[in-house]
Parts: sequence; C-alpha cells; structure tokens
Amino acid sequence: MMDDHHNRVKWLADGPAKPRLLVVDDQAQNVQVLYQTFGADCDVFMANHGEQALALCREKQPDMVLLDVVMPGMDGFEVCRRMKADPATQDIPVIFITVHNEPAQETRALEMGAVDFITKPINPTVVRARVRTHLTLKFQSDSMRKLAFLDGLTGVFNRRYFDQQLGVEYARAARSGACLSLILIDIDHFKSYNDHYGHPAGDHCLKQVATTLKEGLRRPADLVARYGGEEFVCVLPETGFEQANDLAHQLESKVQAMQLRHEWSDAGPVVTISLGVATRLPREPGEAFGDPTALVALADAQLYLAKRSGRNRVCSAQLPDSRLASLS
Ligand code: GH3
Ligand code: MG
Ligand code: MG
Repeated sequence: MMDDHHNRVKWLADGPAKPRLLVVDDQAQNVQVLYQTFGADCDVFMANHGEQALALCREKQPDMVLLDVVMPGMDGFEVCRRMKADPATQDIPVIFITVHNEPAQETRALEMGAVDFITKPINPTVVRARVRTHLTLKFQSDSMRKLAFLDGLTGVFNRRYFDQQLGVEYARAARSGACLSLILIDIDHFKSYNDHYGHPAGDHCLKQVATTLKEGLRRPADLVARYGGEEFVCVLPETGFEQANDLAHQLESKVQAMQLRHEWSDAGPVVTISLGVATRLPREPGEAFGDPTALVALADAQLYLAKRSGRNRVCSAQLPDSRLASLS
C-alpha cells in the first residue's frame, strides 16, 4: 500500500514501468520478507548467491540491488566490487542489508560505492523509506545521464554515448562470442546543401535524416548516434554481416524515400547517404578479439570506399577476413 507521501514522490521519473529491485540473500526467509515489503510496488528479482546476482544485474538492469553481505562463496562486498568495475552495472545503486553493524563494515561498504547500509532484522517501513529515497535519486541521475548522452540538435544519442556503448557491446560480444556490426553513415554533398539552402535548412535536414535512421532500426538493442557533423553511426549487437547489410540498404532507401530535394548533389536529385558497414565475426577458439577501434576503422574505410565509388551506396567488410567478404 502506498501512503500519501509516497504517491507524491514518484517512484519513476519517466515511463510507466515499475522500479526493478534485485534482492540478493542466501536465506530464503530474508528474501521473502523483502519480497513482501516491495512486491506490490516493484518488479522484484531474487538471487541467492553472488554469481547469480551479477548475471541478473547484467541481464535485467535493475534500478537497485539490496545485497546481503555474508553469503557462502562470493560475499556481498565482492559482488559490489565487481558491479562497480563493470560499465554495464556500475550505475546500479547498491544497498547492503546485513547482520553486521560495526562501523568498519559500514565504512567499507560505503567506500565501495554502496549508497546505504541497513542492519537486520529490518524494519520494513524504514527500508521502504530508504529505498524510495535512493530510487528517486537513481531516476533523477538516469534522466540526467540520458540528457547528457543525447545530441541536442537531432535527439539521437551523442558521440560520448556511442563511445561508451561501443565499449560495452564489444566486451559483451567478446564474452558471448556473438557478432557485432557497425554502420557509419555520412550525408552526401551536405556542404553544398548548406551552401545553397542555408544552415537552418541544413539543420532541419540533419534532424529528418536522424529520425529516419532511428525509426529504421529494428531491434531494441540497436542504437543510432550522431558521430560527427553530418555523420551518424549505428551499433548493432548480435547482428551478422548479411543482416547488417540488409539494414544498411534499407536505411539508404528510407533516406532517399524522404525525397528531400538536393539540386546540387551529383549523387541524385534528393538527399542521399553513403554507408560503411563493418561486422566483427565470432572469434575462433584461442583467437584474440581485438578492440573496437579496428571495427570503427574498418567501417570508416568502407564509408570512404562508398564515397569514392560514387556515393549513395553501401560498402561493407568483416573482421577477420575483411578482404574475402567485401561486398559493395
Ligand atoms: P561528402 O559527400 O563527401 O560527404 O561531402 P560533404 O559536403 O557532405 O562533406 P564535407 O565534410 O565537405 O561537409 C560536411 C558539411 O556538413 C560541412 C558542415 O558545414 C556541415 N555540417 C556539419 N555539422 C552541421 C550542423 O550541425 N548543421 C548544419 N546545417 N551543417 C552541418
Ligand atoms: Mg562528413
Ligand atoms: Mg558528407
């Protein structure tokens, strides 16, 4: 039951979804108490050991973790240390819930990046109040982070977010052995578009192209970011060479289908884009996975090829064996 104050303090800053809590405790009874405390207001996930907790953090991206300290195997401190060391989980707030109440333990927990430290046996009303406060802060920082990661003109993600997400997705692909594809996109003859139609019209064109690219993506994990002035980049996790190529051709057609007049382009009568696709294939056993820089460089080289061979087209390659797989 939500009290009045609770109704005024929104659990969520945006979106209709319930807050997502992960409860980690090796004792089923403790998990049960916390489930009863939060089950009505939150989506509650449960883990009874450290490894499971870390896996659920990565997979479910909870808004908060309520973490027991003493557990067989990996203890709560180690779970917290690993969460804070992984870019995919480091922003998830951790509240320790423990039978220990020595200041040294509490200090250690807070220094590791935990937001709070609660001793058992818990008082459900107090725990609810504390969790509510920390969720409010979490949602505020989520909104701020989101704004800091959006491009002001086009509303798609910015370069900073791309750099960060590429690192996250590359590491994920290296772990799981999945494909990862990138598409680098550059508007054709955009300088002459600005020169002839004016800078405000150029801005408008950039927004429209960005929206079309964003709407052209197919999976929730796919993202488009503004890479530079009139360049965009798509990150496509778990996407192979053929799928990335198909998508690139679709994006090319969708931009052309907007029919934005461009009389000073020799690539066509309307605004067009050139695209460079690069796919990182799953590695062979024992083969190094390298780093994302090589994938970006490959997409860039393919974009350059697309420009040089007449614009308004897709060029693509894959790592390893880029030469063998090159298509145009
Ligand atoms: P190419 O087909 O080879 O890509 O030629 P291009 O003219 O598109 O490439 P170039 O790199 O010479 O010019 C890019 C232009 O994009 C120049 C720059 O003024 C314009 N531009 C970059 N950012 C913005 C922006 O935010 N708004 C507007 N209106 N123009 C921008
Ligand atoms: Mg350019
Ligand atoms: Mg250009």
